Amino acid sequence: MKKVYKEAECSTGALDGKTIAIIGYGSQGHAHAQNLKESGLNVVVGLYEGSKSREKCAKHGLRVETVAEAVKQADVVMMLIPDERMADVYKKEVAPNIREGAALAFAHGFNIHYGTITPANNIDVFMIAPKGPGHTVRHEYQLGRGVPALFAIEQDYSGNARDIAFAYGTGIGSARAGMLETTFREETETDLFGEQCVLCGGVAELMKAGFEVLVEAGYDEENAYYECMHEMKLIVDMVYQGGLTLMDYSVSNTAEYGDYEVGPTIITEDTKDAMRVALKNIQNGNFAQRFIAETQSGQVSLKARRRLEANHPVEVVGRRLRGLMSWSGDIEV
Ligand code: NDP
Ligand code: MG
Repeated sequence: MKKVYKEAECSTGALDGKTIAIIGYGSQGHAHAQNLKESGLNVVVGLYEGSKSREKCAKHGLRVETVAEAVKQADVVMMLIPDERMADVYKKEVAPNIREGAALAFAHGFNIHYGTITPANNIDVFMIAPKGPGHTVRHEYQLGRGVPALFAIEQDYSGNARDIAFAYGTGIGSARAGMLETTFREETETDLFGEQCVLCGGVAELMKAGFEVLVEAGYDEENAYYECMHEMKLIVDMVYQGGLTLMDYSVSNTAEYGDYEVGPTIITEDTKDAMRVALKNIQNGNFAQRFIAETQSGQVSLKARRRLEANHPVEVVGRRLRGLMSWSGDIEV
């Protein structure tokens, strides 16, 4: 069994008196920057001139500089801009300005693993990858809790990379929940697999398929939305608390019986074969290549698909029904 590190074994000590540059103020960036600051560490946010997030940072009491200037001041540079923009920003603004012996950090291994960023060998390179969206990283921290994280050390030039990574993970609250050691390769491959096959791709298609089958059979869209999408959270909350055992304990015997009998006819060996193909395409770099090519051609099909998905009937009815629950709209998109 692999060791999971907890707060008692970690501290923010290795970052005392150091400056951490958070590059980007999006999902992860806003969470890391504010959590680290509230953990007593010195944070500067790096954003391009004209970024719409400059104002938000100022409102949150954070110092903002250009990316180049933030990197110059930093002992740790955490890259929290979209993965597909990182190689360019690294080449133009990070590499020429990062100090010898400083640390370059990532929340996902994509660019290091697929070789789009090759860091200088006189810096540390580590990863702290929270296993949750940025808004949860922030929210849990504010509740005195944390989101678990994976950590990995790719380069240890200073000899302190591990302590610095632990300090960073402690500062964002992850050590409260648990930190598991991994490699850039393993994190990248499992993370892409999870989001494609289970968390985003798998769950989204499952919910849409259920909704579509009910609606085409003549049931109300509202009913289909409540059943196939709204209730997903309630089920996942139980799984999060106590695994499938708690879910099966909490749902009715009728539901439990149906789960065992029908579930395996929906997610079949064919589904697993499709997952195996997806995993191969992650391992051999085909998926990464396609995503990089999509970015080079302006992400045209990604944007078109995003528009199409936003107009799916489950989204249209969902927006209306969520609008009736005043407490459900508190994340800005
Ligand atoms: P976002 O898409 O939320 O990051 C957007 C931020 O980057 C914005 O502040 C944006 O500026 C800024 N930005 C975009 N381009 C540039 C640029 N050229 N120079 C400077 N800043 C720029 O990223 P995420 O938080 O989703 O992802 C960051 C990293 O974290 C990725 O490696 C991702 O894989 C990883 N990760 C993400 C998770 C998530 O939940 N989202 C979960 C775990 C890991 P503006 O504000 O002006 O738009
Ligand atoms: Mg993930």
